[in-house]
Amino acid sequence: MQMFVGGTEIESVSGETIPVMNPATGSVIETIPAGTVADVAAAVEVAKASQPKWDCVSPADRARILIAAGSRIRQEATGLARLLTTEQGKPFPEAKDEILGTAHIFEYYASMAGSIRGDAAVLPKYGYMNVIRKPLGICGVIVPWNMPAIIFGWKAGAALACGNAVIAKPSVTAPLTVLRIAELLVSTGIPGGVLNVVTGTGGTVGDAVVCCPDIRHVSFTGSVATGRAVALAAAPMLKKLTLELGGNDAFIVAADADIDAAVAGAVRSRFYNCGQVCTAAKRILVDACIADAFIRKAQAEIEKLVVGNGFEKVDMGPLHHPDQRDAVASAVDRIVHDGCGKIVCGGKKLESPGNFYLPTLLSDVAPDAVAEEIFGPVMPVISYETLDEAIDIANGTPYGLGASIWTKDMKTAYTATEQLCSGVVWVNKHLILPPELPFGGIGDSGYGRENGTDFISAYTESKSILIGI
Ligand code: NAD
Repeated sequence: MQMFVGGTEIESVSGETIPVMNPATGSVIETIPAGTVADVAAAVEVAKASQPKWDCVSPADRARILIAAGSRIRQEATGLARLLTTEQGKPFPEAKDEILGTAHIFEYYASMAGSIRGDAAVLPKYGYMNVIRKPLGICGVIVPWNMPAIIFGWKAGAALACGNAVIAKPSVTAPLTVLRIAELLVSTGIPGGVLNVVTGTGGTVGDAVVCCPDIRHVSFTGSVATGRAVALAAAPMLKKLTLELGGNDAFIVAADADIDAAVAGAVRSRFYNCGQVCTAAKRILVDACIADAFIRKAQAEIEKLVVGNGFEKVDMGPLHHPDQRDAVASAVDRIVHDGCGKIVCGGKKLESPGNFYLPTLLSDVAPDAVAEEIFGPVMPVISYETLDEAIDIANGTPYGLGASIWTKDMKTAYTATEQLCSGVVWVNKHLILPPELPFGGIGDSGYGRENGTDFISAYTESKSILIGI
């Protein structure tokens, strides 16, 4: 596949390519251009020339185009989901969910396009105050491999709805679905130069996007380490950033919770997308008086999960990358070796081609042993005695992306939602992120919010006008 700039497919000036692998088989499925700094500069010139025309499109027309974009993604959902499963590894039904979710994101931003406006008031001593919202110009969109379509949608949909042009850089290991979606969006009326995708490595293309002075905002989703590097590189230009980084979400099960619902919620929230979700339930905290029952029920559910190629009838696919699988396997081995947890089930790689690792349940886990995010199919269960202790453990990492409390008691729910330090708190739910809900982290999980109505302040600048009388 080629890059997508100015509405056409182009090669990199480097003439070099990078292979894209199928995580379920380890075989090469495609190649993409190894973009360069010059490729980013060329895309920026195209975007600069196109953005003023997009800014002049009325909100109603922009909304119509974004609605059409959502419908086009829906029409092509099956083909896009196949591409996503092939390059990312997730089971086909999950890929289809992600594609339909991406269509919904564009429809959501279409519905918001007419609401992007400022403020007005009469200031009796001085005159009329008008606050208008202007697009920033060109926005950089840097996307990870775990949910590439929907994360591209969050960022590009918001930037486009606000009248900006976009330079997107997908992950080097899962770029194909994003490229195909960009092509579809342009075919529905988004001007070619307004939406551009440059492929290549983070160190070259990603860094060029962050360091380009003409790109006024970068929305980055990825690891904490890369997020820090992005913030440092952007600082000299005082560039606006949205950083959506890692998470280590606590999933707290109170003694009075509906235990079957909590087990089902934990299994889904931990093993969806092979555990590779920023807001996956990464630490399961269970009241000690129900911990044994919870582990028994969770084990029964986890042992039913079928692991295999995402095109077969499976519940869980491979990890996305062999290094990712090795990192998960080492984290489990270390916890067990240090006596900080016991394997109840799983804990093994599958001896077949592809990056498969069995869904793993760990009991008696020491909180400090899982202070770092494990980005894979591992459910560590930590037992606690009091709600205060659970909240201390939940808040005891530098992350602050999501957390949930499972209870039937309003006071417990209220206390937890007040005291959990994270950007999102769910009650009797986890993982669900409809576009209406602003999303983002605190602490090492980053800053800035996507979705909801918060995207307006991220992707526009306000201008205050005082008209004297
Ligand atoms: P990553 O940080 O390795 O890469 C993310 C993107 O940044 C990729 O496109 C990569 O090519 C690019 N990149 C790498 N170096 C760069 C640089 N120096 N400058 C600019 N761009 C650069 O992350 P990943 O491994 O793709 O994703 C997994 C991580 O993402 C996990 O930690 C996960 O929790 C996090 N994540 C967070 C969210 C969220 O919304 N908070 C969502 C999904 C994933």
